[in-house]
Amino acid sequence: MATDTLIRVLPDHVANQIAAGEVVERPASVLKELLENALDAGATQCDAAAAAGGRTLVALEDNGAGMSRDDALLSIERHATSKIRGVDDLDRIATLGFRGEALAAIASVARFRLRTRRAADRVGTELVVAGGKLQDVREAGGPPGTAVEVRALFFNVPARRKFLRSEATELAHLRQVFVTQALAHPAVGLSLTIDGRPAYRLPAGAALEDRLRDLFAGLAPTDLRRVDHAAGGVRVTGYAGLPAVGRATRAEQYLFVNGRPAGAPTLGAALREGYRTLLPRERYPVVFLFLELDPAGVDVNVHPTKREVRFRDAGAVRDAGAAALRQALAGPGAGTFVPRVAAGAGAPAPRFPPPALLAGLDAGGGPGRIPYPRREAPPDAGSPVGSAASGGTAAPRFPASFPAVGADPSAAAAPWRWCRILGQVGGLYVVMETEDGLALMDPHAAHERVLFERFLAQAARGDIPSQALLVPETVDLPPRAAHSLRRHLAALKALGFGVAEFGGDSFVVDALPQCFAGVAPRALLAALADSLDPADAPRGASRLLDETIARASCREAVKAHQALSLPEMEALVAQLARADMPYTCPHGRPTLIHISFQEWARKFGRE
Ligand code: ADP
Ligand code: MG
Repeated sequence: MATDTLIRVLPDHVANQIAAGEVVERPASVLKELLENALDAGATQCDAAAAAGGRTLVALEDNGAGMSRDDALLSIERHATSKIRGVDDLDRIATLGFRGEALAAIASVARFRLRTRRAADRVGTELVVAGGKLQDVREAGGPPGTAVEVRALFFNVPARRKFLRSEATELAHLRQVFVTQALAHPAVGLSLTIDGRPAYRLPAGAALEDRLRDLFAGLAPTDLRRVDHAAGGVRVTGYAGLPAVGRATRAEQYLFVNGRPAGAPTLGAALREGYRTLLPRERYPVVFLFLELDPAGVDVNVHPTKREVRFRDAGAVRDAGAAALRQALAGPGAGTFVPRVAAGAGAPAPRFPPPALLAGLDAGGGPGRIPYPRREAPPDAGSPVGSAASGGTAAPRFPASFPAVGADPSAAAAPWRWCRILGQVGGLYVVMETEDGLALMDPHAAHERVLFERFLAQAARGDIPSQALLVPETVDLPPRAAHSLRRHLAALKALGFGVAEFGGDSFVVDALPQCFAGVAPRALLAALADSLDPADAPRGASRLLDETIARASCREAVKAHQALSLPEMEALVAQLARADMPYTCPHGRPTLIHISFQEWARKFGRE
């Protein structure tokens, strides 16, 4: 039949399947959408189940508000939502869902059953949909709330089914979704049953700390430091993993924006900035961070699965995030995972873990775990040797031939309360006993950290000594490097470099920071320019500072295989104990490896 139009409006079931292509990537997306709906409906208990990696079943039962019969029928229509009415509402979304697409999309690519009842209604409603076609609507009993079953996902879309990965992989994604929401909503009771066996049972009314303990048994409380910081209209709370528990992937980075699990390049930048010099390349910190800011400053409507958000003031968010992490990792006031009683009225009192449990978790630390700095100074911390001699207390006694190095009471982050140096082994490592184990220190890395912090402090005070070159040197740089350096001449001068432009891509150097005395200016400037990332121009000056100082520290630090006298070792250990971040060198390599006596006892079969 001849017609004037080529364009057709797609039938609903086709449009739904196209939407499903965006919203429903895999079984985990189904669980995510169902959980979001349950939470939006005010559920305080959600019980999820999955079978065969979610291919045959993803189900969720909640005790939320439920729906009327008419709403239930509307809920599986495309663009049907109770959560927003108009475009203005997009500026202030307070719910997890808002597009009204999820149920329609899911029902179009699976065998779908929904049972729902409002508490006030005598009977509820049950709907059965297959591949987007409504097959049955009937009255149903059941408790108030909503139960959704999604079976045979993608049964009618073979192309999508082929893209599903192994059961184990899909299961890992399902767990990730569950764990993420469990962290975001500790007050809500959650359970997950996998192939008929309970995988998680998380009680309602919990605090974040309880959830961390229940979900991350492998993480010792001492591996995490508490984050709580507000700046520029952004509050950041949660926990940050110590560098020693860095991971090879980003899988243990849980980020939430206004209660919504969310990623954003800005948050990645905040993490990099916060952990800069603390983690080696390709290592990622473990973090559980909650950002709160004015909802008008966040756009959640940028990604089909709402996985990414955009910030109006990305700079403020990045700076607040980075500052919060720095403060948590370095600050003497930083708390550990052990919850502190919240002072605020009405705040739920966090439960203190029983000491035995904590001790047990502590013992989980494998080799390479560095114990969290003891902050509570023992009464005699100021005079360790004297106190040991006085005896009578729990303080250990040392043989007279070994020097004991007490932690300076001002050293809030000192990794040990006391330690004694046993000597140097392998022509390299310093061996020491601490109050709870044996530690090996890499003197080069340790010295680098000490010098790094010292130079940093000098730079902050603006008194990095500079040394004039006998003969000023002209340095030509490749165009990109020259371009980077030109933008940071002022920063270089502040660091003690005498550098001026000399036309084209040439510079004349007439002074260097004293710590670089004797270094060839060209190689140094080229290396510094290389460290500047043009994509991160605003950070250039601080990066330059870190890079310069890290290089200087490395240059000045004791060489790896240098023999050290006992007083030298002692001085280094004492200085390291006073460092803000004693655990890693400025390149993120460990300075200390600690093995606890508990670990030794296990190795010797004494436990
Ligand atoms: P959205 O969540 O974006 O609104 P959905 O397709 O996920 O879209 O859900 C459509 C509507 O169905 C929701 O707006 C809500 O009114 C209702 N709904 C879905 N799931 C539930 C539930 N578990 N409890 C109560 N109402 C629900
Ligand atoms: Mg939804």
